[in-house]
Amino acid sequence: MQTDQKNTNVWTSWNENVRHTYNTHHAVKTEEEIIAAVKNAPKTIRVYGSKQSSADIAAGTDTLINIADYNQILHVDEERMQMTVQSGITLKVLINAMQDRGWSIPCLPDIDTVTLGGALATGTHGTGRDGKLLSEYVIGLRLILADGTVRAVQEGEELMDAVRVSLGMLGVMSEITLQCEPVYTLHLKEKPMRDADWLANYEQMLFENDFTRILWMPHTDHGYVILGNKIDPNTPVVEKKGPDYLKHRRLVSRKLYAYTTRFPRFTTIANKIIQRLFFSSKKEYKGTLYDATVTKSRSGTLELAEWTIALSRFPALFKDLKAAMDDSNNPAFVHIPMDIRFVREDNSWLSYAYGEDCVTIGCVTRDAKNADNYAAFKIVEEIFLKHGGRPHWGKRFDAKNEELRKLYPRWEDFKELRYELDPEGKFLNSYLTELFDVRKNRQARSSRTSRPEGLAV
Ligand SMILES: Cc1cc2nc3c(=O)[nH]c(=O)nc-3n(C[C@H](O)[C@H](O)[C@H](O)COP(=O)(O)OP(=O)(O)OC[C@H]3O[C@@H](n4cnc5c(N)ncnc54)[C@H](O)[C@@H]3O)c2cc1C
Repeated sequence: MQTDQKNTNVWTSWNENVRHTYNTHHAVKTEEEIIAAVKNAPKTIRVYGSKQSSADIAAGTDTLINIADYNQILHVDEERMQMTVQSGITLKVLINAMQDRGWSIPCLPDIDTVTLGGALATGTHGTGRDGKLLSEYVIGLRLILADGTVRAVQEGEELMDAVRVSLGMLGVMSEITLQCEPVYTLHLKEKPMRDADWLANYEQMLFENDFTRILWMPHTDHGYVILGNKIDPNTPVVEKKGPDYLKHRRLVSRKLYAYTTRFPRFTTIANKIIQRLFFSSKKEYKGTLYDATVTKSRSGTLELAEWTIALSRFPALFKDLKAAMDDSNNPAFVHIPMDIRFVREDNSWLSYAYGEDCVTIGCVTRDAKNADNYAAFKIVEEIFLKHGGRPHWGKRFDAKNEELRKLYPRWEDFKELRYELDPEGKFLNSYLTELFDVRKNRQARSSRTSRPEGLAV
């Protein structure tokens, strides 16, 4: 383990919007090193992966653990299609190793540079008719608790429902076992659709296709619909990838949007240009979910927000969202596309999909350094909160305990469990303390002091 101890060290997130000083830094390669770092941390400690979260959840403590070199594949159970890995493995290495065996995780996010631990902790997800959060494929893990002891958690235990999405607040996930599924080939078709048309048909599209993703483009009255269905890999598909210049979309967008911080109204023109240039042609191709749908490189950084809403409440929410985003008197000049995806309900306490199938909607600025002045983040948040939407833990939002406790039925149970496992708040930074209103929770503990029923820790 490499350990640095300096007072001048600064931790910086991927897009440089979050910075913190720290005293001690451990770059770990073994579980023993994680245990030692946690056990011996004199004050607070957090673990980080690829630093690609926009929310201030990965540092801000006296001691830091970098998990990125803790990245080996430990065990493969060929018969059960299960793989046990160290939590710092990137999705790129993980999914390629699965594909080499003819396996995959059937719901993947649009990024492969993140670590498995980071992705699970924040509830990272993909899209699809049967799409689930990545954390739903975890069947076992080892959790390093605040006192340095290790708790093995298995599928079927209620503790697993608390740990799957837990922002590193219950402990550090070390070894993780994933249940894989056979890899499959998708036949994908993309095309622009008027808002009225995809809105009238999205539920049917979701039902009839294995993969559904809608890139929505405010100020253009269009979405760009991507549908995919499983095929035999040998099925011939005449590929139409569109003009070669399409690969420059992100670069061109960044250049156009560079003016929109000073001239927000220019966004409406930029959006129309980007839609015409990059989202007006039809495409057709085939590939595995990973090869064909996950972005492998980006030309720069972003700042992201993402909100989710129950599928049943999506029409009402979207009506308000479209009215606000398309209104040229509204300061919410949003960069396109807004990514609309679909996730199946689950039981994880802090999952966006807890108890209900949901729709996720992304909100991006390509001018990350000016994200504080990007009005769309605030306005999108107001609309989602009004409709009972839940924010993505790894992305930007302002809501705190007061709003969030109404949205998550197991919120107080999670807080109680966190207190039980980490009474000294070793895994807390100031953002998480405020997010979960931890101090108040401690003072008010007399009203709720017992462990959630049936939960053995
Ligand atoms: C360009 C881009 C595209 C994205 N696309 C998607 C997408 O398609 N779908 C989606 O849902 N999200 C998406 N995200 C969000 C991203 O998946 C999450 O922010 C993820 O947490 C980043 O992983 P990381 O390795 O960078 O984690 P970090 O940002 O380093 O850490 C995130 C959190 O995980 C905790 N953590 C890390 N490792 C462990 C561990 N071993 N045990 C316990 N806690 C741990 C950290 O303490 C922190 O709280 C995207 C982000 C970007 C920048």
